[in-house]
Amino acid sequence: MANDNDYYDDYDEDDSNDVRPCPACGAEIYEDSLRCPACGNYITFGSLGPWSGRPLWWIVLGVLGVAALIAALLAWTP
Ligand SMILES: [Zn+2]
Repeated sequence: MANDNDYYDDYDEDDSNDVRPCPACGAEIYEDSLRCPACGNYITFGSLGPWSGRPLWWIVLGVLGVAALIAALLAWTP
């Protein structure tokens, strides 16, 4: 596949060198790294994880749903 070569060309020409700050400790780590060498935190960039792509309201909605369910059960006690 020629796509691999194209990918590495872009990689080399990129000034940022695909370095990102660790979300846990802020140390600069390569995008390829699965784990931060400074603090050992496992990195999940972008939409790799099922939860990382969720907006905050999605989580709030879930929590509210559970809270509403509990409230309904409590209010229903005979
Ligand atoms: Zn770190």
